[in-house]
Amino acid sequence: MIKSPRTVAFSKNATNVFFHILTACNLRCRHCYINPSQHGAESLDIHTIIAWLNVFAQKDNPPDVIFLGGEPTLHPELPFAVKHARELGYQSITIDTNGYLFHDILHRLNPDDVDFISFSLDGATAGVNDSLRGDGAYQVCLNGIRQAVSRGFHTSLIYTVSSANLHELEKMPELLADLGIRRFFIQVVGIRGKPALTAASEPGGIHQVSPEQWLRKVPEVAQKAAMMGISVTYPRVFLRPDEPFACAGRVADNYFIFPNGRVYQCPLCEDYPLHSKIFENNRLISTPGINEADLFKLDIPEGCVMNRIIQPGNIRYLPDGSPAYRIACCLLKEEICGG
Ligand code: SF4
Ligand code: SF4
Repeated sequence: MIKSPRTVAFSKNATNVFFHILTACNLRCRHCYINPSQHGAESLDIHTIIAWLNVFAQKDNPPDVIFLGGEPTLHPELPFAVKHARELGYQSITIDTNGYLFHDILHRLNPDDVDFISFSLDGATAGVNDSLRGDGAYQVCLNGIRQAVSRGFHTSLIYTVSSANLHELEKMPELLADLGIRRFFIQVVGIRGKPALTAASEPGGIHQVSPEQWLRKVPEVAQKAAMMGISVTYPRVFLRPDEPFACAGRVADNYFIFPNGRVYQCPLCEDYPLHSKIFENNRLISTPGINEADLFKLDIPEGCVMNRIIQPGNIRYLPDGSPAYRIACCLLKEEICGG
């Protein structure tokens, strides 16, 4: 039986906090979006992490938090931050990791402290994954997943699709089932951070995949994983002609926080000083002047404004000059429940 994907509508009632507590990382992935000149190079001290978590905990609806880096397990006080978020009543708590699991994190947390540990893997084989993430990263990540599962943690996996690894996506469902992964996130590589600095044609350059490639492969693999009991989430990317366009910056409640205090509502803006909010003295304030919030208001035939500005290569035009399709907000997701 085919499972129907569900489009996850934006909601102001769900607050999502994407908290980069540091930008340092032990890996040097070719598609890394971290940009220390825009995001800071510092590691937040635990008092600041707590103060910033407290700000979002005051919202009417309990927020979700995803701890990110760099590699967040490089922060020795991550377990304390996780437990504090739990005490504050955060609805869900996730740690995104490259799998190296520093500072004995699996033994300093209990499975009840965190809803998911989410591992990043970008190939079904060491050959493809390690060509993107570095030698040895595949095996370390698989070992980390197995340890987490055996200690009773719920695990998810993020696969960032690009021209370099689309061909291995179809091998992922079997690998995920074998590893005991419960949720699978398929993402599209962004032309920001490192990929924005390296032309796709240069050695090490990364391409986004074409609409045809995406639509031919991703929904099919998502179906296969769901049939094996794994819940799958992937971005919509292209809108059907009859579908309404919505910008999450206008109609959702997302915060992408960086160690230098910048807070963005749109991840595509993160390479630029366009953040609409900033932490100053541990208070979250709006930034003056032109910022991302001014861009969210623009209606253009191509759909997402920031996509049109920073990754126009993924739009095609008809002979009359109109776009062949509209690009959805990068935060609009399709979800297929497993089980
Ligand atoms: S593991 Fe994440 S933060 Fe580290 S280099 Fe890779 S993409 Fe960047
Ligand atoms: S990705 Fe585009 S549509 Fe989504 S929040 Fe950013 S500007 Fe808005």
